[in-house]
Order: sequence, then structure tokens, then C-alpha cells
Amino acid sequence: MANSRIGVVGSGPGGLHLGLFLQKHGVTTTLYSERTADQIRASKLPNTAIHWWNVRKREAELGVDHWEGGQIGNNIWVGLPDPLVIKGHFSAKSNIVDNRLYCATLLEDYIKRGGDVVYGAIQAEALVGLSEKHELVVISSGKGSLTELFPRIPEFSLTAPKRRLCTGIYRGITNPQPEYLGVNMVPGTGELYEMPFITFDGKHTALFFFVVPGGPWETVMATRYEDNPKKFNDTVLGIVSAHFPHIRERIRTSEFGLRSALDYLQGAITPTVRRAYAKLANGKHVVAIGDLHCTNDPLMGQGVGCATNGAFVVGQAILDDGLAFDERFCTLVEEKMWSWTRDATAWNNHMIQVPPAPNTVDLIIAAAKNQTLADAFCDNFAAPSKNWNALASLERSRNLLRVLGMDSPFTDAALASTAGAADSKRSVQ
Ligand SMILES: Cc1cc2nc3c(=O)[nH]c(=O)nc-3n(C[C@H](O)[C@H](O)[C@H](O)COP(=O)(O)OP(=O)(O)OC[C@H]3O[C@@H](n4cnc5c(N)ncnc54)[C@H](O)[C@@H]3O)c2cc1C
Repeated sequence: MANSRIGVVGSGPGGLHLGLFLQKHGVTTTLYSERTADQIRASKLPNTAIHWWNVRKREAELGVDHWEGGQIGNNIWVGLPDPLVIKGHFSAKSNIVDNRLYCATLLEDYIKRGGDVVYGAIQAEALVGLSEKHELVVISSGKGSLTELFPRIPEFSLTAPKRRLCTGIYRGITNPQPEYLGVNMVPGTGELYEMPFITFDGKHTALFFFVVPGGPWETVMATRYEDNPKKFNDTVLGIVSAHFPHIRERIRTSEFGLRSALDYLQGAITPTVRRAYAKLANGKHVVAIGDLHCTNDPLMGQGVGCATNGAFVVGQAILDDGLAFDERFCTLVEEKMWSWTRDATAWNNHMIQVPPAPNTVDLIIAAAKNQTLADAFCDNFAAPSKNWNALASLERSRNLLRVLGMDSPFTDAALASTAGAADSKRSVQ
């Protein structure tokens, strides 16, 4: 580990993009990876993260775009008595690669290119020692580890999950052609993402249920696959059959089911924003990126975009400003990361409200009638500040729809009411 300037803790998307970025620019690094590539491959599915084109551009820049894209748009389906359908095209393809395959492969890329790796989990007490070995330590350990170092910011954090999550890889479904990402909504009940999903043996389908707590889809959270595979599979098929005929018609009943107990997860996330740096007992600073800095509910799929943006922001700052990795360095990178993450977080937390905000309803209804709006809304999953620009206040949404020559009945009603005025002032609650 001689002369390794930067220590990077964590080999998820954030840590790997930072390690690869610095390596590409000739900065010596040591990556502290909890697990080897083979251990990552053999682990339980940790997420089913979509990589929109903003992430795929970074992968191309780092030379790690190993998997062909992919999805050419979002197919948003809203389950009303007369279902709404929005088919929006992306300006560049997205894809979804099994995070285990993705991280194991990128870790091996980093090693093949000469990167230094130390295996094992880093405990908080070890950070002072690490900070003495490196000029700077950047931590990308995700939402569950080392969080106590970085104060939570209540103003931007929620206090409880807004959805319960159940995602997994299934057999017996034919993906739509051409490939669209299915974003299926049942207002008040939850959402189901249907995702063409690249895993170890090729392309399959992931189904991701976002369950409104206390609602009818809680049944999918009630059974663990390990305990009763048939009941679990029947529950999933039951929900799909009841709500989503356009998915049901592509399911081969006799083959349908979760691929294995390793290929799914159930859980919930409380959206949380933390300070992006901390001072250690020896006076040195450590920087947090990715989920450690900001964990969002995955509803709008913003986590990898935030994590890899954080990696590039910190990496570029290390290249541009090597004078000192002091508090000024940390505040500058925090501000720059936050300028992306703030809007991704605000948009996500706006979209997750139950019942949906009036301007969300109007925008979705309008997008079903206007292809330009549909394309922009779907493409902007990769540019979340643009979608937040359209939704951050009732006035903004109403004016956008007026420019497009469209009505905004729910927004207008909300604006006219006291509650609506309060809504328009609200930021991310
Ligand atoms: C079900 C689900 C679906 C999702 N869908 C999407 C989506 O569609 N699009 C999207 O952009 N995002 C999505 N996300 C979010 C996305 O997965 C995360 O935002 C992203 O993985 C964060 O990357 P990260 O590198 O910050 O952390 P992680 O991916 O959590 O990686 C952290 C790494 O650090 C390691 N580690 C932890 N503690 C230590 C320690 N003490 N020492 C050393 N190493 C440690 C872990 O082993 C892991 O390798 C989803 C998340 C979930 C749960």
C-alpha cells in the first residue's frame, strides 16, 4: 500500500466509480472492500438498480460499460378504471445489471488495472489509523454502516419509510419488445416496476413491488420465500393478475416463480440525508458519498446516479485542488454533490407522497396526452433536477402545462385552497 494517496472504503457503485476514476487519472488509491469479487457474486441480491443514461455515460468514461443497453424508454401505466398509458422515450438507453455481477466485475477491472485492494469490513475505530495512511479517506459504505459518524439532517430526512419494498428476479415472464421499463402505478396502493434484468446467465425479468404501508399489497411482504415458496409465488402472481393484465398476458403460469431465495429482498428505507463529511479525533476529515450521504427510497431510481455523481465530484475535486483535504475541501465537495442530490431527493420525496400531490396527478395526465411531455418526463429520470423544476411548486407546474396548452385542474384547485398554498411552500417532506 506504499504511497497510496486516497483510501476508498466500500466497493458498491460509489466506491468503485471513485476508485476507477482516480486510477484513470493516475492518483494512487487503496480500495477497502468488505468482500472479494467471488463473495460479492455469491451474496444475496442487494437491489435491482436501474442505471439511467447519466450513470451509463460515467461507465463509458471509466471503460466499464460491459453490458449492452437496454431500455429505450419508460412505459408508465396507471391503473385507473380506464388505465392511463405514457410511453416516453429516452435520449440514450438505460440498463439494469445485477448489482452483484456489476460490482464484482468493476472490482476485477480495478484490480486488473493495478488497483490496490484490502479486504474486510472497516470499523469506525479504524478510521483514524486509515486517515494517517492516506491523504484523504472517502467512505462509500452504503446506508447500513459507519452512518453514526455523519450527522443526519432532519430538514431533508423523513422519519419513516413511505413504501415497503419487495424486489426479485423471476422466471416465466417474456420481456416486452422493444425493451421498455414498466413503471406501473396503482394510486394509493403501490407501484410495480417490471424490469428486463441482466444477471449471471443472461437477461431475465425483475419485478419490484413498492407497497404503501398498511395497504392491500402488504401480503407480498407477509411471506418469506424461504418459508413457503409456493405461497410467495402465488401471492406475486395474484397481485399481477389482479392489477396488471398487460404483464399477466406475458407470464407462462407453469414456469412462473422467483428464481431462488438468493434472488430477492424484502425491506424498507427511511429516506435520510447526512452531512457529507466528518472530523476524526486526530483532526483529519473523511468524506461520505453515495447512500452514506443520502439514502432515497428507490421509487424514482436515483441512488446510483447520486452515488456515481458523488464519486466523480470528489474525484475531480481531488484532481483540481490538492492543496489540502481540509474543511474547505469538504464543504466545497458537499455543496457540489448536494446540487445534484438535493433535486433528486426532493423530486423522489415529492413523487412518493400518498395521496399523490395535485401537480403530480396533473403532470401524469398531461403526459398521457402529450408526447413531448411524456418523452421529457421519462428521459429526465436521468436528469432529476429537470423533473423537479416542473414540480417544485404548484405555480411551476401550472405554468408548464399552460405553456403546453393543457389544463391543470387539480393544481388549480389546490392553488385556490389554503391547503394548496401550504403545499406549494413545502419542500421535501
Ligand atoms: C431494492 C432497491 C432498488 C434500488 N433501485 C435503484 C434504481 O433503480 N436506481 C438507482 O439509481 N438506485 C437504486 N437503488 C439504490 C442504489 O442501490 C443505491 O443508491 C446504491 O447502491 C448506492 O451505492 P453506494 O456505493 O453508496 O452503496 P452500496 O451499494 O450500499 O455499497 C456499499 C458497499 O460498501 C460495503 N461496506 C459496507 N460497510 C462497509 C465497511 N464497514 N467496510 C468496508 N466496506 C463496507 C458494502 O459491502 C458494499 O459493497 C435501489 C436500492 C434498493 C435497496
